[in-house]
Amino acid sequence: MDNARQLFDLSGRTALVTGGSRGLGLEMATALGQAGASVIVTARRAEWLRTAEDGLRELGIEARAIACDVSGPEEVSGLVESIVREQGGLDILINAAGISWGAPAVDMPVERWRSVMDTNATGTFVCCQAVAPHMIERGRGRIINIASIAGMVGQDSRVMDAVGYSASKGAVIALTRDLAVKWARHGINVNAIAPGFFPSRMTRTLLDRNEAAIAALSPSGRVGRPGELMGAAVFLAADASSYITGQILAVDGGYTAW
Ligand code: NAP
Repeated sequence: MDNARQLFDLSGRTALVTGGSRGLGLEMATALGQAGASVIVTARRAEWLRTAEDGLRELGIEARAIACDVSGPEEVSGLVESIVREQGGLDILINAAGISWGAPAVDMPVERWRSVMDTNATGTFVCCQAVAPHMIERGRGRIINIASIAGMVGQDSRVMDAVGYSASKGAVIALTRDLAVKWARHGINVNAIAPGFFPSRMTRTLLDRNEAAIAALSPSGRVGRPGELMGAAVFLAADASSYITGQILAVDGGYTAW
């Protein structure tokens, strides 16, 4: 049996975090790095990537930032191949890249629905598919998909009106469970974190308008705070969760519990 500290130690592991240039992805990349992993963060835009890489390195984390759009399968597989070649392997994938589009369901432009599905659902699948051959060959790997409570329960339109986003996160949850079953025999654990409402660039307008209503709907009486996803990310990436796969871990102050 392992020592409890070793169970959460990520020394010597390499992690790829999509959507790692800011917000929740960067928070989770920081957590993995502080637990000992070397971290590659990816996103589309260079300005946030550069800042993220500098910030991670200032914390003493071995970090690289590489631009990549998760909706492009060739771009993603090229990125994964270069990481495996240069780092000698890839142990952990966190799929945090995501976008949203708010509009009443009856007016939701189909092209917006499609772009949200393309990034959140297809992008997550494309990244899982790109790392799988390598993880299968090694007989081990960790995949953590970032879903949302919006994929678990319907949202009152006075709080959140983003039906395509909710559907895309429901797809991420189903994808997580199905891949977990398919890849468990290869030693790959596939789990999801379903955050409640956390401050980020994505949620700025929503929380400016509705934070009080959201807090009132939450048993904890508040939205999530910076740092409150770090523990879940390290847990699902580390040996501590070796027998856990196909699970959706809501980090939501009890929002989905009542
Ligand atoms: P955010 O600050 O807007 O971060 C989104 C990240 O995804 C950025 O790094 C963004 O960088 C990247 N991204 C977007 N489209 C991409 C693409 N096609 N390819 C690669 N990277 C892409 O929002 P956040 O709140 O931190 O969201 C992070 C994840 O948490 C998302 O999956 C979101 O759905 C999920 N989530 C957030 C909350 C919340 O309350 N904040 C709750 C539940 C779930 P570029 O724009 O430069 O590409």
